[in-house]
Amino acid sequence: MIGDFHVHTHYCQHGSADNMEAYVLQALAKGLTHLSFTEHAPLPESFSDPAPQKDSTMDRDKVEAYLKEGQALQKQYAQDLQINIGFEVDYIQGYEHATKQFLDMYGAETDDSILSVHMLQAPDKSFFCIDFSEEEFGRAAKAFGGLTLLYKAYYDSLQASVEAELGRFKPKRIGHITLIQKFQLAFPQPADFWPEQRQLLALMKKNGYELDVNTAGLYKPLCKEIYPSAQLIQHAVALGIPLVPGSDSHAAAGIGKGFEKLQAFPLRVPQTQISK
Ligand SMILES: [Zn+2]
Ligand SMILES: [Zn+2]
Repeated sequence: MIGDFHVHTHYCQHGSADNMEAYVLQALAKGLTHLSFTEHAPLPESFSDPAPQKDSTMDRDKVEAYLKEGQALQKQYAQDLQINIGFEVDYIQGYEHATKQFLDMYGAETDDSILSVHMLQAPDKSFFCIDFSEEEFGRAAKAFGGLTLLYKAYYDSLQASVEAELGRFKPKRIGHITLIQKFQLAFPQPADFWPEQRQLLALMKKNGYELDVNTAGLYKPLCKEIYPSAQLIQHAVALGIPLVPGSDSHAAAGIGKGFEKLQAFPLRVPQTQISK
């Protein structure tokens, strides 16, 4: 197994208490050669976390400590494991400027990051965190005027994320591109979004992005599927989009979880970062 390239830590407010070294040891025990820490970057200061617990990301004042701890492990385990430090950065439409500022500030200290959509703005301007809970997802569907419109808004935002101008440290990988299906067993997909999905992948290919092949959905009781589906992954392969595996672990025990289900796919290590 080449590595796990989507991993969270105790620095985000909804992570487990495991220290970062525990993740490293688990990666070694699983025989991985690479590990990317991609903790949730702090949200823009002008943006209020719409998740009911307001716990979506790490606090801004923890960023330095996170990078320092990661960099120390990077050195300590350099012989055994390539450790990358980076962020899972939220793409929030309308907050591009603040997001670019964050990336400009810390990009030079990072190796590998992911750009993801979790936050969507409803027609009444309120924001929703679409993966927080089944209940919140239901509220979002109402606010958007139905599931179909919510799905459409999600794919619009993903496309915008690929096209957004976020500067030279913009992540080169798009996170879990079917996260909108996290609660699909309670809220069945209202329509076929194959055209939107295909368009998104074409745009990713055109702009040189990698795909986060994310096993977390397999273990969500209302999803039970990889993000994205095998069919979409095959389409990405046909387009020549690099597939980068990630467990989206929030605890050390989750490193590499479900990767046996990815054996059929041509997985790659990420293009580590951007000319430093
Ligand atoms: Zn998380
Ligand atoms: Zn995510």
